[in-house]
Amino acid sequence: MMKDEAARRMPVVFVGHGSPLNAIEDNRFSRGFAELGRAVGKPAAVLSVSAHWYVPGTYLTGQAQPPTIHDFGGFPPALYEVEYPAPGRIDLAQKVAELLAQHDAALRSDWGLDHGTWSILKWMYPEADVPVVQLSIDRRLGAREHFELARSLRDLREQGVLVMGSGNIVHNLQDAFGRMRTGSTDTPAWATQADAAVAQATLDHDTATLVELPERDDAMRRAHPTPDHWLPFLYALALADDGDEVRFPIEGFDLGSLSMRSVVWGQPTGG
Ligand code: ZN
Repeated sequence: MMKDEAARRMPVVFVGHGSPLNAIEDNRFSRGFAELGRAVGKPAAVLSVSAHWYVPGTYLTGQAQPPTIHDFGGFPPALYEVEYPAPGRIDLAQKVAELLAQHDAALRSDWGLDHGTWSILKWMYPEADVPVVQLSIDRRLGAREHFELARSLRDLREQGVLVMGSGNIVHNLQDAFGRMRTGSTDTPAWATQADAAVAQATLDHDTATLVELPERDDAMRRAHPTPDHWLPFLYALALADDGDEVRFPIEGFDLGSLSMRSVVWGQPTGG
């Protein structure tokens, strides 16, 4: 019985989503997302914390059928035609809202699955048969508050829910677009340093360092002019235990300085 209980415990993941084009391109990142889905196996549901629902409040998608949100501009038409028709799960959204009642968490119907969620899940679960709920990131809260909020969700791992943070460990778009314009794909030292510092602290289960890193480390400050793509990492981290094995199924940089490092904490349950 104990063994069965332990076997059902879901890992927790952080995924670097990078360019929306990863949703429709066959490249090393999209292949990595597909491999991640096979390794993790199919959960009962996904709770996704995407960098792209960064609003003043803690909200959950509360629809039986959440719409696919195309929250980007200037991409090829094929990207706007992508639909990811995974069902929602209103009971899970309500349960998470109860766990986060002290933050006045509430269900909303004016958002859906944005590209931070579907550009990854489209590869992980291409049949769109796993229910998905998205959780917003309250832009009014600091890193420590986000970490504490997310810790209220720890039991979801025991209930077959895959909690997925989707952002990027290094995300300075001004730098990345500047490199694209000049054709320079070299990774700058500060990006390598920030990515390596996060990787090492993650392997060390050094949560205190990770929560404070963008405040006290120059390379991490440069890696995140705004915190939206970093905070999903803290949501995933908050659900990890010291005993969880840490793996980096995807590593490397896109557009020179955009870290695509992804993290799995705990034992994958898939084949
Ligand atoms: Zn993004």
